Amino acid sequence: MTLVYVEHQDGRPDDASLQAIALVREITGGAPLHALLAGPGAEDAAAGLGAHGVATAHIAEHEALASHAPVALARCIGELIERLSPAAVAAAGSERGNEVLAHAAALGDLPLAANCVAAEAGDPLTVTRIRWGGSLLEDARLHGPVKLLTVAPHTVEAAEVGAGPATLERFTPSLADADLVVRVVETVEQSSEGGVNLADARFVVSCGRGAGSPEGFAPAEELAALLGGAVGCSRAVTIAGWRSHTDQVGQTGTKIAPEVYLACGISGATQHMAGCKGAKRIIAVNVDPEAPIIANADYAVIGDLHEVIPAITAELRKAGAG
Ligand SMILES: Cc1cc2nc3c(=O)[nH]c(=O)nc-3n(C[C@H](O)[C@H](O)[C@H](O)COP(=O)(O)OP(=O)(O)OC[C@H]3O[C@@H](n4cnc5c(N)ncnc54)[C@H](O)[C@@H]3O)c2cc1C
Repeated sequence: MTLVYVEHQDGRPDDASLQAIALVREITGGAPLHALLAGPGAEDAAAGLGAHGVATAHIAEHEALASHAPVALARCIGELIERLSPAAVAAAGSERGNEVLAHAAALGDLPLAANCVAAEAGDPLTVTRIRWGGSLLEDARLHGPVKLLTVAPHTVEAAEVGAGPATLERFTPSLADADLVVRVVETVEQSSEGGVNLADARFVVSCGRGAGSPEGFAPAEELAALLGGAVGCSRAVTIAGWRSHTDQVGQTGTKIAPEVYLACGISGATQHMAGCKGAKRIIAVNVDPEAPIIANADYAVIGDLHEVIPAITAELRKAGAG
C-alpha cells in the first residue's frame, strides 16, 4: 500500500494534495491507497478522498495537531509506517508537505525525493524531479524499505476515479514534548487585494523593479481588480521593501499557475521563472526587447509599463469589463 499526507483547509483537501494522490495512484499498481489527515476539518476533508481512489483515511487525533506541527505530523507518518509498512509515502511539494516529509525522512532514516513531476513503479522507485529552481529535471532512483516523495504542485492533474467513499480510521499518536517544539502558534490573516489569493488567482499582474516605487504598483492593482485577479512581484521588489514577501513570485516566493500572467518590468531571472512557468499564458511588458523574459513569453509588449498597463485597463473597460 501507499500512504499520502493530505493537507486541507476549510474541510476540503488542498488541490496540491489531490495532485499528489493522482501521481501516486500511477505507481500503486492497484495496491490500496491510504491517506493521513490531521487538524480541524480533517474528517470533512477525508470524506471526498474516496473519489480520488483513497481506500482508507487515517485521522490523527491529538490536541497538539490543532495547528500545523511538522515534527508531530512526521511522528504520525512514522507510526503509520510501523503499522502499515507502505511501499511509499507521498505529500504535496508545498512548503508544508516538503517540511513534514523532510522530518519523516530524517526521523525514519528514509530516502526522500522532493518536487517530483513523474514516477515509475518499481524497486528502486524511479522519479523525475525538479531541481535548481526549475532549471533542471533530474531522474533519480530511490532505494530503501519505504520511499518518500513530494509532488511538485501544478505538474500533475488531480482526477476523480469514481471509487466509493474512503473508510475513516481514527488514531491518537504518541507525541513527546520535543515533537511540539516547532508548531504554528498564531495565524495572521494576510489581506489580499480584492480578496483573491495569489496562488489561486486566474489572472496575475506582476511588476518588478521596473515599477520604480511602491506607488508604481497602482496601475497593476487597478488592472488586477478589474480582472478579479491578484498582484504579484519579483524579489527585487520585496528586497526594496515595496511589497510584502507574500506577493513574491518565484523560487523563494509563491509558485503560481494562472490562466494569464502579465509580467511587467521584470527581467525574467531563472529564479523568477521558477515560480510562474505553470502559467498557461505569459505576457511580458518590458522596455528592453533583449530581456530574458521576452524569450519565455507567449506575447510581449515592448514599452513602458506605466503606459502599457493603463492602456490595457482602458481597452478592457471599453470592451465592457468591470
Ligand atoms: C537564491 C535566490 C533565490 C531567488 N528567488 C527569487 C524569487 O523567488 N523571485 C524573484 O523574482 N527573484 C528571485 N531571485 C532574484 C532574481 O535572480 C532576480 O534578481 C530578480 O528576479 C530580479 O527582479 P526584477 O526582474 O524585478 O529586476 P531586474 O532584473 O532589475 O529587471 C527589471 C526589468 O524591468 C525592465 N524595466 C525597467 N523599467 C521599465 C519600465 N518603465 N517599463 C517596463 N519595463 C521596465 C528592465 O528592462 C528589466 O528587464 C532569487 C535570487 C537568488 C540568488
